[in-house]
Amino acid sequence: MKTIYMDNNATTRVDPAVFEEMRPYFCDLYGNPSSMHRFGGQVGVRLREARARVAALLRCEPDEIIFTSCGSESDNTAIRSALSAQPDKRHIVTTRVEHPAILSLCKFLEKKEGYDVTYLGTDERGRIDLDEYRDAIRNDTAIVSVMWANNETGNIYPVEKMAVIARERGTVFHTDAVQAVGKIAIDLATTPIDMLSLSGHKLHAPKGVGALFVRKRLPFRPFLIGGHQESSRRAGTENTTGIIALGKACELAMTHMDEENTSVKTLRNRLENGLLERIPDAIVNGDRGNRLPNTTNISFGYVEGEAILLMMDQMGICASSGSACTSGSLEPSHVLRAMGVPFTFAHGSIRFSLSRFNTGAEVDSVLDTLPTIIENLRKLSPFSADKSAPACTKAFSE
Ligand SMILES: *Cc1c(COP(=O)(O)O)cnc(C)c1O
Repeated sequence: MKTIYMDNNATTRVDPAVFEEMRPYFCDLYGNPSSMHRFGGQVGVRLREARARVAALLRCEPDEIIFTSCGSESDNTAIRSALSAQPDKRHIVTTRVEHPAILSLCKFLEKKEGYDVTYLGTDERGRIDLDEYRDAIRNDTAIVSVMWANNETGNIYPVEKMAVIARERGTVFHTDAVQAVGKIAIDLATTPIDMLSLSGHKLHAPKGVGALFVRKRLPFRPFLIGGHQESSRRAGTENTTGIIALGKACELAMTHMDEENTSVKTLRNRLENGLLERIPDAIVNGDRGNRLPNTTNISFGYVEGEAILLMMDQMGICASSGSACTSGSLEPSHVLRAMGVPFTFAHGSIRFSLSRFNTGAEVDSVLDTLPTIIENLRKLSPFSADKSAPACTKAFSE
């Protein structure tokens, strides 16, 4: 059975051209770029090239890029740096819909280290109110962190506008752009965004490499202390193969950007519209007019997302659900909860996230398969006879 992979917001296939680029640096050109000899030096040259390639995609300076191990490390580094560089500022502004790499860190800082955090809510389409945002920034706000695009719904946030407001208030602005990089145009030359996180494995580079953009002259405190790698901003011998791969993936992202926004978007729309036509009681979650081109998050009423995933898995179709089964109770995603998606729909949410490696035949196959799966599950569903909300509303009590 062929796998139909529609879970690209979780991770992506390494592009074969990226793999070829990194391959020589495992067994043949394995020098340490910090070494004095030419054997290491030739790797250093490739790291400089990779830095320039990442910078070209983001439209920033190469020395504003720090390579890290992942998006989570970049996010943690950004927030920790802003806090330790401004010890008298003890307030953070973020949103309820961030990735756990930001959200769990903020909860930790609140509970264990006594910081004050404002979590901005959203409307039913997942949008943030800019007036509420402006009012949330205080004189003691050390950093604002708002994602560029949401991993679950694909919603795009107005981070350029938000960065201008933060700059006016003298507050550092960080964006988690892990889902945005490679899918939509980013131009750091025309926005006052101070820091930006990205991750290799979300744009067809391998897992275990990321980057953090830190604007020139922004006070910075390293997270990992040790050797002088990355201009003393991130210690640890460089993940040379991963960095070379990330550079190549960024170069490819520039050439494929139009494709993301035309053919990938067309496939996504065909999938989304096809499912809505074929399946009753299905709704799209998020801001349909302002989303990533590859993502659709659809709730199928009166069924469990995890049941749908299991049935799809048997047909070789990979996607994600917005609910996580913890301690026997299915908790709907924090993103859908922030949007106030009704209980009977929040549980049945499925995220399909496509890439340039998906085909029209794969979309057809999902359109052929999923309606039957949903129909069969609804026959079994305890909700289906009486289509009203079940008694349990615990999930929304938080
Ligand atoms: C995947 C993801 C991350 C985490 O990146 P890792 O490289 O897996 O640590 C952070 N933020 C968003 C929005 C993501 O989608």
